[in-house]
Amino acid sequence: AATGGSTTVRQVKLEKECELRVEASADSPLRLRLLTGTAEIFGTEIPPGIWLNFPPRLKFAVFTWYGATIEMDGSTETDYTADETPMISYINVHAVLDGRRNRAKASPSDSDTSQGPRVIVVGPTDSGKSTLSRMLLSWAAKQGWKPTFVDLDIGQGSITIPGCVAATPIELPIDPVEGIPLEMPMVYFFGHVTPSANIDHYKVLVKELAQTLETQFSGNAESRASGMVINTMGWIEGVGYELLLHAIDTFNATVILVLGQEKLCSMLKDVLKNRPNVDVVKLQKSGGVVSRNAKVRQKARGYRIREYFYGPSNDLSPHSNVVNFSDLFIYRIGGGPQAPRSALPIGAEPSADPTRLVPVSISRDLLHLVLAVSYAKEQDQIISRKKITYLAPCAGELPSKNLIVGTLTWIEN
Ligand code: ADP
Repeated sequence: AATGGSTTVRQVKLEKECELRVEASADSPLRLRLLTGTAEIFGTEIPPGIWLNFPPRLKFAVFTWYGATIEMDGSTETDYTADETPMISYINVHAVLDGRRNRAKASPSDSDTSQGPRVIVVGPTDSGKSTLSRMLLSWAAKQGWKPTFVDLDIGQGSITIPGCVAATPIELPIDPVEGIPLEMPMVYFFGHVTPSANIDHYKVLVKELAQTLETQFSGNAESRASGMVINTMGWIEGVGYELLLHAIDTFNATVILVLGQEKLCSMLKDVLKNRPNVDVVKLQKSGGVVSRNAKVRQKARGYRIREYFYGPSNDLSPHSNVVNFSDLFIYRIGGGPQAPRSALPIGAEPSADPTRLVPVSISRDLLHLVLAVSYAKEQDQIISRKKITYLAPCAGELPSKNLIVGTLTWIEN
């Protein structure tokens, strides 16, 4: 039964193949430890006896394969145990992937067969895609593989701030509290939280990311055999569906896991039926997945950006800096509202290149926008004596004067 608001230390006994589903409260601390047995959080085993401190609002499940006793201290939004989970079907998928990784590893390194499974997880929002991706990665890492995690969910990415497509190797089971490790992420800034802001630009970034990974894999047999797990966004209709097909093609996905949607699954099966090396597998959505409405999702984005600047436990200190307008060159990438014909030189046509750089003049319109630093060398000059204040993750000069802006905003509370 669901309990909420309890603040006492309490023990929860979990039978085999059951899970304790928890939503940490927004304003008071929660810690938890494993007293007896074995248990995992989204694929990562939790160490016995050690208190784990959970950040506010975290929603997670402690699952046990063989039985466990958990001790909880602190208040929760909700916590309850569930005996029906899709975990057996998920671990079975892992077992199949593991077999394919072994086969890839045993193959000569120059042939196609040395490529491990490229898994793509698709489904509507709040079907548990990120969670399943995470479990598959952690189970693989536990067995010594180094799978690559690719996150195409620009709305709620789990590698870095929203508005980016990113990838990172996973070498250890993902820490249930800290999340995805950030030592070596490869990040492309899109700058919008939905691809519809500039679909072609989004595709260009996805392609760029795929090609860079392809190059890395060609020189690294271990990553190649370990394969990848690709998380996608929940937009699965119309253009969203086309973007899924684009991602499947671009990354040469070999396993498509469809969560909680019959229709999407049969559509994909049908469109991919002539590709014998692509498996489309339907999986059940977990009853524990917490649905978030648009407002909650937007708030979550804000917390995520805050976390980028301040650290998950407020342990980083970003710096506020003042520079001259003339010290920065800000660009928008294609798309967005096109310049009206009247604003262009006579005879000029509005350009349709989705990756065209459009200089943006500095004004109050930039307030609360999140910008990315570009490593490109090219620039232009906008001479002015004005100054701009910006927040950067670290002190000192920005690594480049060239910045990219989209529509991603963040208002510090
Ligand atoms: P999607 O990626 O499809 O949008 P997520 O995997 O992010 O969905 O899941 C949505 C939310 O539900 C997340 O906060 C996640 O931590 C939570 N969640 C997923 N599975 C469970 C579970 N079994 N018990 C409790 N919370 C869960």
